[in-house]
Amino acid sequence: MYDIAKIREDFPILARTVYGHPLVYLDNGATTQKPRVMVDALVNEYYSANANVHRGVHYLSQQATELHEASRETVRRFINACSTDEIVFTRGTTESVNLLASTFGDEFMGAGDEVILSVMEHHSNIVPWQLLAARKGIGIKVIPMNDQGELLMDEYEKLFSERTKLVSVTHASNVLGTVNPVKEIIAKAHAHGVPCLVDAAQSVPHTVVDVQDLDADFLVFSAHKMYGPTGVGVLYGKEKWLDALPPYQGGGEMIQHVSFEKTTFNELPFKFEAGTPDYIGTTGLAQAIDYVNALGMDQIAAHEHDLTQYAIDRLREIPGMRIFGEAAHRGSVISFLVGNIHHFDMGTLLDRLGIAVRTGHHCAQPLMQRLGVEGTVRASFALYNTRDEVDALVAGIERVMKMF
Ligand code: PLP
Repeated sequence: MYDIAKIREDFPILARTVYGHPLVYLDNGATTQKPRVMVDALVNEYYSANANVHRGVHYLSQQATELHEASRETVRRFINACSTDEIVFTRGTTESVNLLASTFGDEFMGAGDEVILSVMEHHSNIVPWQLLAARKGIGIKVIPMNDQGELLMDEYEKLFSERTKLVSVTHASNVLGTVNPVKEIIAKAHAHGVPCLVDAAQSVPHTVVDVQDLDADFLVFSAHKMYGPTGVGVLYGKEKWLDALPPYQGGGEMIQHVSFEKTTFNELPFKFEAGTPDYIGTTGLAQAIDYVNALGMDQIAAHEHDLTQYAIDRLREIPGMRIFGEAAHRGSVISFLVGNIHHFDMGTLLDRLGIAVRTGHHCAQPLMQRLGVEGTVRASFALYNTRDEVDALVAGIERVMKMF
């Protein structure tokens, strides 16, 4: 049984009020709230097992190292990677993409080579490639979408050339909610001999993601969007690819031997983890994974699917409602505008009712351009949201409409 009342008790912040109203937190696409067990794990480690990892012979250092490496194994199992060597800890999705753009770009791309992105990418999967373009003269091609917010697979196929070196697409749109057919996207890339990077920032918190089933070459996500701490993320890469890439940053941890004449690098995954890692944060990420696993990813997905469907039905009752993204396969993100009420006004006034939504371009300005809007209001649901909160959102929107 999915006991939502009991689940909500796991998240202390959900009991607070904002401007005298019960908090209705619908900005989960930006970051999720944290279960007590996750925060407790961070505090416990600081209080009882804190020491730098991978470098001490003393008891605490070994204990901290064991916890850190156990977290890597938890992540491996969570996304079904073959080996912990394929799990690189980073600061988040953004750093993971930058790591790849830099290293893959250095090793495998030169002037005139191309990367294929999609029109619905977050800036973090656009700008690193533009920086690479500025540095090395690579080209960027973009998969377009239809008015429902679904990628045009025929057009995608036409973008390949002998200069295509990588495809990098989001699994789920943080604006439209669209869940892209990444397995098919990857298969098509492989048919052209091209590897594929999947931005799973908005999918890993909501559905089972299996890197072997997808046959993803690289996959990235952030802990904070899936009930874990800020400042930790993951870069998954197939061993053969990570092995072939040069290091990203230099420093401690990532070396085997250093002399002024010649330095050799550590084995995977440490080659990409220069400096002291956020070993407390990785414990938090592992706790968050344990938490969602205990609830069951399938149960979470079913709950969020039901809630999203209910929200779409209720929002559609509102006169002047425009929902952006009508993909057949969609996740728990809904972007909308009502009449000619500015998204910023709507967000600000909803906030006064205790309802937290995101407004603006959602770090996806090229997508906004495609939609012909400057920004939208976005409600995004998590495992703890309820139908009552959807009703509060609808009532809130109706109240704001009356003010205009
Ligand atoms: N990719 C997508 C699809 C996102 O929604 C986000 C964050 O909103 C990111 C990447 C960037 O994640 P982070 O800021 O945690 O690095």
